[in-house]
Amino acid sequence: ESTPGDPLIDRRPRQVHGALWSKVEPTPVPAPRLIAWSPEVAQQLGLDEATLRSPEAVQVLAGNALWPGMVPYAANYGGHQFGNWAGQLGDGRAIVLGELVAPDGARYELQLKGAGPTPYSRRADGRAVLRSSIREFLCSEAMHHLGVPTTRALSLVATGDSVIRDMFYDGNPEPEPGAIVCRVAPTFLRFGNFELCSSRGDVALLKQLADFTLTHFFSELGKPSKETYAAFFHEVARRTAKLIAHWQAVGFVHGVMNTDNMSILGLTLDYGPYGWTDDFNPGWTPNTTDAEQRRYRFGNQPTIGLWNVQCLGVALLPLFEDDENLLTAGLLEYQRTFEEEATRRFAAKLGLSSLRSEEDLALVNNGFAWLAAQETDMTRFFRGLSSVVTAETAPTGLPPVVRETFYGEVPEAHVAKGIEWLQAWWHRTRRAEAPPAELAQRMNAVNPKYVLRNWLAQEAIDAAHAGDDSGVLALLDVMRRPFDEQPGREKYAQKRPDWARFKAGCSA
Ligand code: AMP
Ligand code: MG
Ligand code: MG
Repeated sequence: ESTPGDPLIDRRPRQVHGALWSKVEPTPVPAPRLIAWSPEVAQQLGLDEATLRSPEAVQVLAGNALWPGMVPYAANYGGHQFGNWAGQLGDGRAIVLGELVAPDGARYELQLKGAGPTPYSRRADGRAVLRSSIREFLCSEAMHHLGVPTTRALSLVATGDSVIRDMFYDGNPEPEPGAIVCRVAPTFLRFGNFELCSSRGDVALLKQLADFTLTHFFSELGKPSKETYAAFFHEVARRTAKLIAHWQAVGFVHGVMNTDNMSILGLTLDYGPYGWTDDFNPGWTPNTTDAEQRRYRFGNQPTIGLWNVQCLGVALLPLFEDDENLLTAGLLEYQRTFEEEATRRFAAKLGLSSLRSEEDLALVNNGFAWLAAQETDMTRFFRGLSSVVTAETAPTGLPPVVRETFYGEVPEAHVAKGIEWLQAWWHRTRRAEAPPAELAQRMNAVNPKYVLRNWLAQEAIDAAHAGDDSGVLALLDVMRRPFDEQPGREKYAQKRPDWARFKAGCSA
């Protein structure tokens, strides 16, 4: 048992009571090499390219050195994993270096993921492999450019170390290259921080954490009080609902929505086994360890979001003076917001500013059912609709832009249903507020052409393993403008090739 202010850095795995962080220093690595960085994050933080690429900065981003003023720590949190309370978890391989005040006055935490053991590493090594680091680096930036709230990634550094993952990747538990991502967010606080306090009956610490969170991140809600705690909970419920509606709209599957991975700011947090549903498959999960139960499958994310919000609400009950109505109100807030946001987003994907009637809702639901009935590329399907909306007349056959989104042969009856649906939708768009050309533009601004398809990330990883980082840089660049046509980059918008069919995202 130990408290945070210890003058000695102590990395022994341990239960930490009465505190939500522990001082810890990154463990040095042999040969840091900067593979990639995000120009937008660097700019936001006021770091220029020369500074970032300097050997001194690379040492910091690799955990080999600290800038003056940095007091690194690992956070303490618990969580519900796959529906069960897991007790203390904590940052087992993430270390916050410190807080940086950006030129615009905003504060950001800089966190190294994979920088070595902490008191919370339990039996694991505190390290991250290159492939998962590439996936986190690319996807957090891709999500940001899609407009989805997320933690950011400043840099990706190869460590020169090799790391052994005790699970099977490609059936091969060989040593792999190690890497470190520097993540950036105003805070990495999770539902699990609050749950840990509550689970231990430490209401004083819970209150201290809630007051800290309110003061620093939700100051608009007012001074701490029972009502303010409730308002805070309701706001987190709303943000979480909005976030998950956005995931659904772009086809992002988080894969491990444990409550320790749920950001208190409503950011996408922890890019582990995530993936993109190529074919709008509600039953799909990228997480191979969840293949049986499929708890975190695409179609279940909205329900799990609610479940997670409930865990947070239960943890906050002591601050609500055990008024369960405040908990219930937050859950209703989640449901109401999710409905509204999901409806708004899917309407916009179809060029409609709202779904006004039962008929409109039926149109959307029929569209979903049709899409899910046969393997159809979600991203290409929605993107292609902008060229159908501008047609002079309702389609009489299946337009080639739609036909080419199928992954295999489809029965004629399915084609016929598709034509029928497209006709109904086309006629509905004639009653929209704007002319077709304008609708097409609006649709292209919400239906991305480029998403970080699993197979694209995998190709970049394979090349990086063979010593070629150019695939990572190319993907980063494409994903910076996901809604633009980007001539010459058609390859990055292609459907999943056959070899990638059964490839899930990869974990850890
Ligand atoms: P995750 O499933 O990625 O959210 O991780 C769950 C917990 O396991 C967190 O407490 C992580 O910090 C910890 N963890 C995951 N991988 C490692 C690792 N390689 N070394 C230490 N802790 C880890
Ligand atoms: Mg995690
Ligand atoms: Mg993880």
